[in-house]
Amino acid sequence: MHLKSIELYGFKSFANKMVFKFEKGITAIVGPNGSGKSNVADAVRWVLGEQSAKQLRGSKMQDVIFAGTEARKPLGYCQVDLTIDNHDMKIPISYSEVTVSRRVYRSGESEYFINGTNCRMRDVLELFMDTGIGQEGYSIIGQGQIEKILSNKPEERRALFDEAVGIVKFKKRKESAEKKLDEEKQNLYRINDIITELA
Ligand code: ATP
Repeated sequence: MHLKSIELYGFKSFANKMVFKFEKGITAIVGPNGSGKSNVADAVRWVLGEQSAKQLRGSKMQDVIFAGTEARKPLGYCQVDLTIDNHDMKIPISYSEVTVSRRVYRSGESEYFINGTNCRMRDVLELFMDTGIGQEGYSIIGQGQIEKILSNKPEERRALFDEAVGIVKFKKRKESAEKKLDEEKQNLYRINDIITELA
């Protein structure tokens, strides 16, 4: 599994369509201050489902859309496509290549796609759970994050290990099953109350 390319349109400073291709091995993106290097990492976070505008260094989600310059009008939407080689099938989907896309309009409407098929954000989050790539993953280490990991509470630090050993999706499923069980218990109490009243 490796990142093959990122395609950006209208994302932050990338008004024109821009494609970054990544070969196997190490790729470094260099450039002057303010040229958009961190915006590329933001695009990766964003397409993988980042919901916090603050994490993306903005104040609201629409801040990721190209805001215009003196010479160029703002754009109405932006899109990021992230393509990952999946020959080793580490991502649980029967395709040897996976493209995840996210689009957002100024109106706030947002769309996600997996290999061109419209899907929910949840599908994207689940697809990458336990791969190390997702939002909770460790594939993007931001500035100051190592320090944060070291000073985290033990249970927060443990979340990283859970992701690495691949048990996050089971924990999430357990949580969701426990929630449903709890709701059913409440329903049972209510039914018993009604039966008692009617008896
Ligand atoms: P440094 O080396 O200083 O960390 P960098 O290369 O990582 O810089 P970024 O922080 O990625 O640069 O890019 C910042 C630039 O992106 C700024 O010029 C900012 O104006 C521009 N920018 C951010 N959001 C938008 C937007 N929505 N529309 C247009 N430009 C944007």
